[in-house]
Amino acid sequence: MMRDIVIIGKGPAGISAALYIKRAGLSVTVVGKDHGALAKAEKIQNYFGYSIASTGVDLVESGWKQAQALGVELVTDEVVDLSWNGGFTVKTATEEYDAQAVIIATGSARKAPRIAGLAQLEGRGVSYCAVCDAFFYRGKRVAVLGNARYALHEAKELLPVVGSVTLLTNGLPASDPFPAEIRVLDKPVTAILGDEQVRGVSFSDGTTEEFDGLFVALGSAAAGDLARKLGAAMNGTHVDVDADMATNIPGLYAAGDCIGGMQQVSSAVAEGAKAATSAIAYVRQARVSAAKK
Ligand SMILES: Cc1cc2nc3c(=O)[nH]c(=O)nc-3n(C[C@H](O)[C@H](O)[C@H](O)COP(=O)(O)OP(=O)(O)OC[C@H]3O[C@@H](n4cnc5c(N)ncnc54)[C@H](O)[C@@H]3O)c2cc1C
Repeated sequence: MMRDIVIIGKGPAGISAALYIKRAGLSVTVVGKDHGALAKAEKIQNYFGYSIASTGVDLVESGWKQAQALGVELVTDEVVDLSWNGGFTVKTATEEYDAQAVIIATGSARKAPRIAGLAQLEGRGVSYCAVCDAFFYRGKRVAVLGNARYALHEAKELLPVVGSVTLLTNGLPASDPFPAEIRVLDKPVTAILGDEQVRGVSFSDGTTEEFDGLFVALGSAAAGDLARKLGAAMNGTHVDVDADMATNIPGLYAAGDCIGGMQQVSSAVAEGAKAATSAIAYVRQARVSAAKK
């Protein structure tokens, strides 16, 4: 089923966008995995209308109830992929959601892990996007840094193309069942080795392993991971958007902490509303164009 708009993230930005879209009469599904940044906010005292401080969890859950009461489809799941083939497809481990337009509202960019050599070798063997870069490692030995569902997705993306895939969990347990073809090493990683190009990895027990490439897939897919899969421009770790919250990919918008800026509930809500307004206009225009054909 093709929805008009799918929103990734059910924090203030994603939920605010959903309210505008639903009230404009378009179909919208929000896919988000948890309470986002507000899970950690003990008291919100600076958001308009809340004279009595709310906890972050209460605030975001109240947004979920508001959206559901309006008829917004709210799905709790982790998104592992975003692709385009005549329309957008948002993928979780088990479901796919097709849409005319997508709003990324996944919150703050993940901090890069502090592993020696990782930042220096970015673009020289260190990659953040399996679907973008697998081709460069045809028949070669690659490692995936991560331990959960997103790492599994990236590893599966690489398997048919590369020579071998090794999962480096960096000392964490592998949380998902990884296929037998994927070798799992659970030792802490101390450094990514190589000068001009990735050569391998060293571990806390003093051992090393040789690899031609390393794909970073820690935790769940962040906004940058998803945007990069479509070739959307980034501004550092933030998704690059214009004043209308539009990325450089037609039909793809972003809002909230993932675009940088103030990183407050108030700004996330405003940017979500703006992204919704732009996405609504995009879908309506696409309908007019389709009717003319
Ligand atoms: C400790 C703390 C205190 C704060 N205090 C305040 C305050 O007092 N006032 C204030 O205005 N702001 C405060 N903030 C900031 C505020 O929480 C954020 O600015 C706001 O929540 C951003 O909204 P967002 O929707 O962009 O992102 P988030 O609220 O982070 O929501 C992101 C959403 O994306 C989802 N998501 C992420 N990745 C995926 C994926 N791969 N698949 C599916 N879903 C995904 C998450 O589950 C979540 O639903 C605080 C933040 C923290 C951490």
